[in-house]
Amino acid sequence: MMPITSAISSISAAASPSQTSATNGTPLITLLPKLVKNEEKEFVVQEQGVSLCKLSKITIRPLTKEEEFTYLKRTVAALNWFQKHGFKQYVILPQHKSFDNWYRQAEKFNAVDSYEEGMSPHFAEEENYEKSFSELYNPNSYVEGLKEITSNKKESEKIDGALKKLSLLQKNWGFQLLPKYQIRLTLYGVTANDDVNSGTIFLRITPFVNNFSGSIIHEVVHIGVEKNIVQKFKLTCAERECLVDLICSIYFKEIFPKYTLQYLCSKWPIAKSMAEFVNEKTIIADLPQAISQYAKLNPRVCVCSDKPLIM
Ligand SMILES: [Zn+2]
Repeated sequence: MMPITSAISSISAAASPSQTSATNGTPLITLLPKLVKNEEKEFVVQEQGVSLCKLSKITIRPLTKEEEFTYLKRTVAALNWFQKHGFKQYVILPQHKSFDNWYRQAEKFNAVDSYEEGMSPHFAEEENYEKSFSELYNPNSYVEGLKEITSNKKESEKIDGALKKLSLLQKNWGFQLLPKYQIRLTLYGVTANDDVNSGTIFLRITPFVNNFSGSIIHEVVHIGVEKNIVQKFKLTCAERECLVDLICSIYFKEIFPKYTLQYLCSKWPIAKSMAEFVNEKTIIADLPQAISQYAKLNPRVCVCSDKPLIM
């Protein structure tokens, strides 16, 4: 996603290595197309460290066919969960006649019992679905989005600025700012999603949204508070989303003045209760302490059935 100002630079899609361009002298990402036997172009992605700012590196590339299929399986496995939590309408799935049955079955799939975060679920007839998916996957579908992202200097500056602000939280109370984030472009699923353990951020580019910096920072914040706040105080899925939204809308109000709270957080009473503890002062000084007070007044009931899957 982003090109980062001080960092991202550019990408040359469908170009030879010698066409790799760079800004500030630092090549970010290079896409090397190579011809394969059937004349279809296959893009080989070569990542180079991209210094977003002095604090974190951000690399970006599309998901490969295998990775995209795995990601699709995880999304399908969570369809039931999306349905229950009102997110189904935001999920984009590839259309193929052989998938109709798969999606119908998945709606009855109990994601909480059958799916573990980070695991790749297995479906009956999965091999057939994978074969059908191979007919749909086209690396060219990612090229425009990738170009847009890596050439948008304004958005990359916002990411840069937000990461710098987060470094203060890292210093003050241990916000987990990773040395490296890997952004992976996908055509499916919800708007964005993260894998806390690997620091991977999945960004959907269909439809392409110009102001993608807010989505990326939303996921960076998820990763940063997951261990020492979300897991430590056993926050529910709704609380987790509200916390991230509160941080983004309050702490980054100058960078993202139009940051929109998710439906979940704008309507749920949880957000109101949490907002009493989360403000600019507590975000900067000691957010774990503030959430510990919130959790005492709002005892945990059961987070097991509310485990966040993909958001
Ligand atoms: Zn979220």
